[in-house]
Amino acid sequence: MNKELNYYSVKEVEEAVKLLADNKLKLLAGGTDFMVDYRNEEDFLTGYDGILDLSNIDGIDEITESDNHIEIGAMVTHKDLVKSDLINKYYPALAQSAAAIGSTQIRNRATIGGNICNAAACADTLGPLIAFEARAILESVNGKRTMDVSEFVKWPYETEINDNEILISFTLPKPEEGTFSGFQKIGRRQALAITRISLAVKAVIESGIIKDINLVPGSATPVPTTFSEVEAEIKGKKLSEIDSKEIGEKAAEEMVGITGERWSTPYKKPALATLFRRAIKNLQEEVANNG
Ligand SMILES: Cc1cc2nc3c(=O)[nH]c(=O)nc-3n(C[C@H](O)[C@H](O)[C@H](O)COP(=O)(O)OP(=O)(O)OC[C@H]3O[C@@H](n4cnc5c(N)ncnc54)[C@H](O)[C@@H]3O)c2cc1C
Repeated sequence: MNKELNYYSVKEVEEAVKLLADNKLKLLAGGTDFMVDYRNEEDFLTGYDGILDLSNIDGIDEITESDNHIEIGAMVTHKDLVKSDLINKYYPALAQSAAAIGSTQIRNRATIGGNICNAAACADTLGPLIAFEARAILESVNGKRTMDVSEFVKWPYETEINDNEILISFTLPKPEEGTFSGFQKIGRRQALAITRISLAVKAVIESGIIKDINLVPGSATPVPTTFSEVEAEIKGKKLSEIDSKEIGEKAAEEMVGITGERWSTPYKKPALATLFRRAIKNLQEEVANNG
C-alpha cells in the first residue's frame, strides 16, 4: 500500500529550497509528465516524503527583458511562450516549438521547466534552447548556479539537477543582427510510420554568408546536440549556393555516426535528411525575402 505523502505549496523560492533541503520531495510543475509517470510507474514516488508544488511560487512564471538577455521563468507555460511578443521577436524557433507541443489543454498547463527537467529525447523546447545557447539557473539553500542547457541533460530522462535544487529560469542572450531561426517536426499524427523527429535552427547571416549556425535535431540522438560536422560544412559559405539535399544526406550520416545503426535508423535517416533539406530551403527563402 502507498504511504501517505505530504503536499507542500509555498509562495517564495526561499521557502521552497528550504523545504527541499530538509525533505526528499518530488517537484510538481504543470503535472503533464508527472501524472503520466505517477499512473504508469508503481514506484514513482517511492523514497519521497512528499510533493512540492511549484505553481504558486511568485516570479518564476514570467518572461523578462534586460539589455543583453531574456530570462524565461521555469513555470512559463508553452501557451505563454507562443503568445509572448519577446519570444516571437527574438526566438521564433522557440515559439514555434512550443506551438507544436501536445494540445491546447497541454500547452495551457505544461511548463518549459518541466519539459527540460523531464528530459525526454523528444522534448520540443530543448533543441531551440540549445540552439539559442540558453543557460539554466538552478537554486538551492546554497545559492544559485548556472549551466549551459546543452550540458544540463545527461541522458534521456536524466539531468544534472540535484535533489535539493529547483530549476528557476533560463537566460538566453539576445540574438545579434542578421539572426534567423526556425523549428519543424515530423509528428506521429502527420506521418504514422515515421518516428517523431524535430530540428531547431539558428543562423546568423551577414551579406548572404553564413557567419554562424546551430542545428539541433530532437529525437535523432539520445540527448539533443548541435550537429557540428554539418555546421562546419556550412559555416562561411554563401547561403544561396548551399545544396540543401546534400546537407540533408550529410546530417543523416552524422546522426548514424553518433548513434550507430539502430532499428529506427531506416525511418530516421530519410526523416532527418528531409528536415535538414527543408530547413536550408526555408532559410534561403526567408533571407531572399527579408535578409
Ligand atoms: C497528451 C500529451 C502530449 C504531449 N505532447 C508533447 C509534445 O508534443 N512535445 C513535448 O515536448 N512534450 C509533450 N508532452 C510532454 C509534456 O507536456 C512536457 O514535457 C511538459 O512541458 C512538462 O511540463 P510540466 O510543467 O507538465 O512538468 P511536470 O509534469 O510537472 O514535471 C515534469 C518533471 O520535471 C520535474 N520538474 C518540473 N519543473 C521543475 C523545476 N522547475 N525544477 C526541477 N524539476 C522540475 C518534475 O519533478 C518532473 O519530474 C505531452 C504530454 C502529454 C500528456
